[in-house]
Amino acid sequence: EEDVFEYKKSLAIRTSGFDVPRPVKTFEDCGFSSQLMAAIKKQDYQKPTPIQCAALPIVLSGRDIIGIAKTGSGKTAAFVLPMIVHIMDQPELQKEEGPIGVICAPTRELAYQIYLESKKFAKSHGIRVCAVYGGMSKLDQFKELKAGCEIVVATPGRLIDMLKMKALTMQRATYLILDEADRMFDLGFEPQIRSIVGQIRPDRQTLLFSATMPRKVEKLAREILSDPIRVTVGEVG
Ligand code: ADP
Ligand code: MG
Repeated sequence: EEDVFEYKKSLAIRTSGFDVPRPVKTFEDCGFSSQLMAAIKKQDYQKPTPIQCAALPIVLSGRDIIGIAKTGSGKTAAFVLPMIVHIMDQPELQKEEGPIGVICAPTRELAYQIYLESKKFAKSHGIRVCAVYGGMSKLDQFKELKAGCEIVVATPGRLIDMLKMKALTMQRATYLILDEADRMFDLGFEPQIRSIVGQIRPDRQTLLFSATMPRKVEKLAREILSDPIRVTVGEVG
């Protein structure tokens, strides 16, 4: 049951899974708040990229997703924009503590880029973002996490360290993103990823993005995602 949408000549969006929401053509089709639309306009994002066209309606509907698209295709906003919506939808944001959105990335550079992209959209909503990765003082990161945040962007090893130090709790986490999953596996982070996933409630929404899908990543996806929709963006033919 594969569907193919031709985004433009030579570029196709392939989706598989059941009840796949139709791709959007514009950001206006996403039902974003005027506040979020203003933040998108401020970035000068005129229209969604192909992976965003397919992924936004899927993720906004609450479904799990496996997103496969090459570097530079706009995957970050595809998970950050629905994450802002997900967080703003939570009743009584202040009652519990710990991040709602948890993003794992393979390297500190990538984690930092995602941190910056998240901040662009989170700031105007009063949503706090923390970045957690190696090479920074553990004590400083501990203090920052203790001050509280709704989004944490982390490399897996350092996030495990912070969880062990009880710098944060995962009690409120309901939106988990594994970005560049193939690279995280290449770097040997599979045990850390499994440990992090095991600490987040099973009824969470889980998003997995990867440039390639080696068998080991496929196996993890089958184990930790619920009825995922797979989206692949690539050349026609
Ligand atoms: P990926 O994670 O797929 O490698 P990124 O999310 O880092 O790609 O996005 C690549 C670049 O495209 C970034 O500079 C980002 O700001 C920009 N970008 C993302 N979405 C859009 C859009 N809809 N319109 C224009 N530029 C965009
Ligand atoms: Mg990326």
